[in-house]
Amino acid sequence: MMTNSLFPEKILIQNISSFYKKDIDVLMARLDQVHPVISGNKLFKLQPYLTEAVRHQKKGIVTFGGAWSNHIVATAAACSLQGLSSIGIIRGEQPANLSPTLRKAMDYGMQLHFVTRENYSKKEIPGFVDTHEYLRVEEGGYGVPGAQGIADIANYIPHADYYCCAVGTGTTLAGIINSLHPEQRAIGISIMKGNTSLADQIKKLLLHQHSNWTIFHDYHFGGYAKKTPELVAFMNTFYAHTNIPTDFIYTGKLCYAMGELIASDFFSKGSRIVIIHSGGLQGNSSLPNGTLIF
Ligand SMILES: *Cc1c(COP(=O)(O)O)cnc(C)c1O
Repeated sequence: MMTNSLFPEKILIQNISSFYKKDIDVLMARLDQVHPVISGNKLFKLQPYLTEAVRHQKKGIVTFGGAWSNHIVATAAACSLQGLSSIGIIRGEQPANLSPTLRKAMDYGMQLHFVTRENYSKKEIPGFVDTHEYLRVEEGGYGVPGAQGIADIANYIPHADYYCCAVGTGTTLAGIINSLHPEQRAIGISIMKGNTSLADQIKKLLLHQHSNWTIFHDYHFGGYAKKTPELVAFMNTFYAHTNIPTDFIYTGKLCYAMGELIASDFFSKGSRIVIIHSGGLQGNSSLPNGTLIF
C-alpha cells in the first residue's frame, strides 16, 4: 500500500514583498519544509516513481547523481519509507571520505555504486543490477512522471500571476507549466552555465506546447554548484531580512535573480508572484563553517 503521509497537510506561504521593495506581491512557498531529508520539489517528483515501483512490485529504484545530490538522498529516504530498496549510481571515483549526503543516503539503506565521470555520462545501469527488479529513474528525477508529480504542487499554493523556480533538469518547471491557467506564466532560473538543451528537455515534458514560460540563463554565478562572494552575501542578507534559508546551488540563485528581475520591472505593477522554495538546504553542508549566518 502506498502511504500518502509523506505529504504535508499544507505548505507554509510567506509574504516577502517587503524584501524586494516594489509594488508587487511576492510570496514564497516553503517546499523546503515538507520533509527534513526529502526536501522541496524532490518529494513531489519522486511520488509517481514510487507509486509505479510499488504497483509493479519492484524491489526498488536505481538512479543517478553526484556526491552532493539532493535527488540521491531524497530517493534513498523516500524508498526506505516506502519499503523499497535503492541503488545510487554515483559520479566519480569513491572518495576516502564520503560526503554527508552520501553517508545519509547509505544510512537510509541506499547501495552506492561509484563510476568514473566518463562512464557516468553514459548513464548505464551496471550489470549487477537486475533491471526487472529495479525501476530506473533518471538523474534528478527527470521525466514525464516527475513532471506529473510536480503538478500536484498547484494544490498547495495560492493563485498568482507568476510562478518562479530554480531549474536543473527542468522537470519542476515543466510540471508547473503543465498546471498553469491560461493567464498565468512560469519563470525558470537556470542554475547551469549555458545549458542550451534545457528548453528542448522541458518541451519533451509538456502536455501542450505553451509559450507562457521563460527561462533566464544569466544567474548561474559561474555554473552548476559554483558561487561567488556576491551570492553568499546575498543569501545572508536575504536570511537576515526574511528568516528564510536558501541553498547556494539552486534557491540562492533563484532569489537573487528575482531581485534583479523585480528591480528591472520585469513584472508588471500590482502582480502577484509565487517563488517556489525547492529546498536543497543539505547541500550547504559542503561550505566551510561560517560562510553562512544560518
Ligand atoms: C533538484 C533541485 C532543483 C531542480 O529541479 P529540476 O526539476 O531538476 O529542474 C531545484 N531546486 C532544488 C533545491 C533541487 O534540489
